[in-house]
Amino acid sequence: MNPGFLKQKAYLLLIFSVFLIGIGGFFYFGNLLYQQKLNKTLYANEKKYSSIAELNTLQLKAIKDKRGFQINKADYMIKSYLEYKKQSVDLARKIAIEFRGDSLKDQVDSLLLLVRKRYEDLDLQIHYINTLPELKANQKIAENFAGSRALSESWEHGFNKLQSDLHLRSINLAAKEEQLAQQNNLSFIFLLFLTVGLLTWSFFSIKRQEILKQQNDSAMRINTAIRASEREFSSAFEYASIGMALVSLNGKFMRVNSSLCRLLGYSAKELKALNFQDITHPDDLDADIDFVNRMINGSIESYTMEKRYFDKKGKVLWINLSVSMVHHADGTPKYFISQIENITDWKNAQFSLSESEVKYRSLFENSLHGKLLHEFSGAVLDANLAAINMFGYTAEELDHLLLNELLDSADSRLSAILLARNETGKAQGESTGIRKNGERFPLLLSSVLFKDKSGNDIYSTTLVDLSKQKETEKLLAQKNEELESFAATAAHDLKEPLRMIGSFMSLLKSKYAGQLDPSANKYIDFAISGSTRMNYLITDLLDYAKVGSEQVPFVEVDPELLLLDIMALNDSYITEKSAKISWTQLPVIVAQKTPVQLLFQNLLMNGLKYQAPDSVPNIQISGQELTDCWMFSVEDNGIGIPANYHEKIFQVFSRLHSKDKYGGTGMGLATCKKIVELHGGKIWVESQEGQGSCFHFTISKNSIA
Ligand code: ADP
Repeated sequence: MNPGFLKQKAYLLLIFSVFLIGIGGFFYFGNLLYQQKLNKTLYANEKKYSSIAELNTLQLKAIKDKRGFQINKADYMIKSYLEYKKQSVDLARKIAIEFRGDSLKDQVDSLLLLVRKRYEDLDLQIHYINTLPELKANQKIAENFAGSRALSESWEHGFNKLQSDLHLRSINLAAKEEQLAQQNNLSFIFLLFLTVGLLTWSFFSIKRQEILKQQNDSAMRINTAIRASEREFSSAFEYASIGMALVSLNGKFMRVNSSLCRLLGYSAKELKALNFQDITHPDDLDADIDFVNRMINGSIESYTMEKRYFDKKGKVLWINLSVSMVHHADGTPKYFISQIENITDWKNAQFSLSESEVKYRSLFENSLHGKLLHEFSGAVLDANLAAINMFGYTAEELDHLLLNELLDSADSRLSAILLARNETGKAQGESTGIRKNGERFPLLLSSVLFKDKSGNDIYSTTLVDLSKQKETEKLLAQKNEELESFAATAAHDLKEPLRMIGSFMSLLKSKYAGQLDPSANKYIDFAISGSTRMNYLITDLLDYAKVGSEQVPFVEVDPELLLLDIMALNDSYITEKSAKISWTQLPVIVAQKTPVQLLFQNLLMNGLKYQAPDSVPNIQISGQELTDCWMFSVEDNGIGIPANYHEKIFQVFSRLHSKDKYGGTGMGLATCKKIVELHGGKIWVESQEGQGSCFHFTISKNSIA
């Protein structure tokens, strides 16, 4: 029932009850007033009755006193008579007032007239008694007796009649009052019951209406909440970023969201015509069905599994499936709610990750260099075969060792490497290893920090046993030293006979000038030029051999001063060529001074030398400081170098021109390259044939050996 209507009804009833109670109360109190009025009338009637009776009594007493006076002649009696008469007159006057407007007024008036007449009669008799002799008086009184008697009888009659009327009236009034009282009582009880009944009914109606309203409100609230929750579910379902489906107990798609449709490439209608079995990869179907059966028989409440679906085009998709169940009110299974997340990319990444893990594992295992995985503390986690062989421990023994038991902490280079690694995450350098038998050996160590799957810091350290290399290097250095000393000795020893050949040939030419035929002079010139060239060659060879062979200190070198020296040394050549040599402000470097001077000299002299016949050489030198090195450029306006010779020219004895055109030994640039590499730098050329050349080289800031 509509609680609003109920409420209206209850309040109408309440108003009606109040109205009825009002009317009932009005009548009841009206009745009560009327009853009181009747009561008053009855009382007045009784009073009138008493007054009349009293008037009768007063007359009787007056008559008695008159008779007494007639007999005894006692004065007090006449006085008493007069007193009763006076009282009677007063009472008669009062009665006349009481009966004013009364229906019995006429009757009363007649009676009062009779009273007056009787007293006149009595007064006359007393007059006779007072004025006449007793007999005469008695005679006179006896003569009037008939009249007196008639008056008395009229009074008696009128009095009785009036009394009887008044009595009757009293009876009637009392009866009426009684009746009214009864009616009033009845109506009061009825009104009481009616009031209590209606109020109770109204009260319970309102109460019921409130309960109904509360029930209605809570039902409405529940309904609203259900509708809101349905709306929320619908919108969460429909707009979920992952696929969602309601699936019947036999696997049919009952409802699917747009994400799922997008994922599988089906329309909602097409999907609803399918079962999950239709699109599940056969290899995953049994596991899924097993889960479904366990959910239906109640042994599990939900499940999650990774499985494969086929999309509409037949492509395999990896999905993460989470399924829960909705039950009927009685607890029986209703349908499944499935959440489907596309994990194809993640799965593929996982596959490639495990693939790459296998790959890297095999690289780790099969590396010819020793590899250790260890923690920051140095605790070894894994070691490859090369490391096991390098240190001479078994794999189990290595797993229980710390890195500082494998590396010689007395080698100061180790702490520098570890410091750099802790700061930057990676570092490499040479250090000393300790084998199980205690033997120390040189090694190259490269350590890199990475995070494992759990985010822990792990260090991958690669170790290269340098024992053999160091031995070879030592041997090579020895050989080089021997070779260089041999070259220096040989060059020195060769120079002496060469100088002799040159000077004796010059002597021969001057002593026998004019005596020898022209051919002989030409041969002597060839010999002198050959010995001069040989001298240059030996000097260049010596320069080349010397580079790096001597312990030359690294000092601050100002290239501008070097250039000034070079120009002073070659002043005549520069003047002859009318060459222009200029430079911008050059940075001061730290290097081996003499080799660097040779470097600048070779490049500068080549720039002056490799010029077209009539060209005026213009050499520009520039330099700048970079982060790790200094870079210099020597640019000329010479004949240039074809691109295919840009690397070849730095090899020993490599020349592009005949000695007749441009003299030289082919050692200059090779020596430059050696000097630059000794300083941890590089040298290269930018040039095009006929358009000048620009030689660049760098000097490392960390080249101090
Ligand atoms: P050389 O003693 O012959 O000058 P270098 O080693 O100094 O030997 O030079 C090798 C060759 O590179 C030279 O023969 C020359 O052909 C070429 N070359 C060197 N510098 C220049 C330059 N500035 N311009 C053109 N060609 C050059």
